[in-house]
Amino acid sequence: MRSDKIASDNCVLHTPFTLFPSPIPSRLYQLCLDIHPYVTNLMLQLANNLAFMEDSLSSIVQVDDFTRNLLKVQQTVEREGLSQSILSCINRSDYMLDTFTQTNQSDSIRIRQVEVNAIASALSTHSCKIKDLHHFLMNKYNLQPATNISFPNNDSLEFIASELIRLYDLYGQKDSFILLINEPRSLNFSEHFTIEYTIHKSRPDIRIIRRRFKDLPNAVTIGPNKQLLLDDNIEIGLVYFRYCYDPSNYDFPEAWNIRLLLERSKAIKCPSIGFHVSGIKKFQQLLSEQSQLEKFLESDQAKKLTEVMCKFWPIDNDTESGRDGFRIGLEPHRNLVLKPQREGGGHNIYGKNVRTYLGKIENSDDRRQYILMEMINSPTEKNWLMHPEDNVESDKFRLDSHDLLVSELGIYGSIVADKSTILSNQSAGYLVRSKKSGVDEGGVVSGYSGISSVMLIDDNEVDLTQFYQF
Ligand code: ADP
Ligand code: MG
Repeated sequence: MRSDKIASDNCVLHTPFTLFPSPIPSRLYQLCLDIHPYVTNLMLQLANNLAFMEDSLSSIVQVDDFTRNLLKVQQTVEREGLSQSILSCINRSDYMLDTFTQTNQSDSIRIRQVEVNAIASALSTHSCKIKDLHHFLMNKYNLQPATNISFPNNDSLEFIASELIRLYDLYGQKDSFILLINEPRSLNFSEHFTIEYTIHKSRPDIRIIRRRFKDLPNAVTIGPNKQLLLDDNIEIGLVYFRYCYDPSNYDFPEAWNIRLLLERSKAIKCPSIGFHVSGIKKFQQLLSEQSQLEKFLESDQAKKLTEVMCKFWPIDNDTESGRDGFRIGLEPHRNLVLKPQREGGGHNIYGKNVRTYLGKIENSDDRRQYILMEMINSPTEKNWLMHPEDNVESDKFRLDSHDLLVSELGIYGSIVADKSTILSNQSAGYLVRSKKSGVDEGGVVSGYSGISSVMLIDDNEVDLTQFYQF
């Protein structure tokens, strides 16, 4: 990856990574795979239910311009009639292990959903590569944990590439291109290239153009048949968003008009605007209980999904439930996370800081834009986190030393629908990001965590520090 601390685009640093795989109980890993289609089916139903979205976001849009603008794009294209009925979303649902005390007082581990990413779900490339390094190192150091272990396949890169090919083919115009929308300076550029190479390996006929979002205003137009045209005559069949998820991405005057123009065109969008909106965190709070989920999913699916759901509260001052949530947020014994409707790291407020922050916004309408979430109590694992800025001569890099890390598991998926008819809905492959215990944020590109891989362990293991004894 490039580094935001190094100006040269030609100078790269290795992506932070762990030396060894991260232990995850098999049953919990399987549960995440099993529920993935329900998570994405729910997203599709939200994407097709503008009235529910408007109702759910009605108080947030009064105080949050970004959410209002996103919703406005969706409202506009729905009012005008969608030019493209194919809806798509390459997604990633993220989870953390959670230690809890059972009724018989013994500790056990369950798994909890952190969030769902509906746009620019990243790091599949790195995730697929790390497994080989981990296997090599485990062999080299002769690390065979005593208990039964196994390593699940990870084909997320191939999967994402094949889904992009599927979408391109659904557009069905031979000479069209894929447009990958980029940030102004892409740190994680190697992933974008690797996806392009992977597509090229099986389909050299498909051409991909990468463009920065801010360079689109003078470059894109809509043709007479609603085709999306780049540089006047290149027809775009598929727009693949790797950007456009944060307010700062829309910091130039034409930004929202361009986003609307893309959605108005008949190019297939990944994600289409409705899916993008469906990833807003407020829906997690609104749909965290079985009875709420049953409005959208079969009862057994809703039940299974609630097995991984955290507790959530609104904190607005307009409703009784919001005022209750606010009071709960102030209770000293609680360990909570306060989240605004944002993606991409750096926006949440954690633990003790929640109460201080709530004190500051008590009398502000801003309360409407947050949700409160219980803190997941992740068990630590013994591992080594390798960061490119670390001094490798330090004691930390002795194998008889170690870090205590916590890991976040992401399950990639892709859903493609023709309006409300699902054409495909699959999960494939995973991401593991591990960070030092006690660190709140979890991003890899932002430097908080490193890439790891999954080592499946027995379901009754609760001590994740027992692996890798030297
Ligand atoms: P973003 O959209 O910015 O990625 P997330 O909801 O994923 O926001 O939160 C960022 C990070 O904060 C996560 O990767 C995770 O490490 C941590 N985190 C978020 N929610 C919780 C929680 N309820 N309990 C513990 N850690 C959390
Ligand atoms: Mg996240």
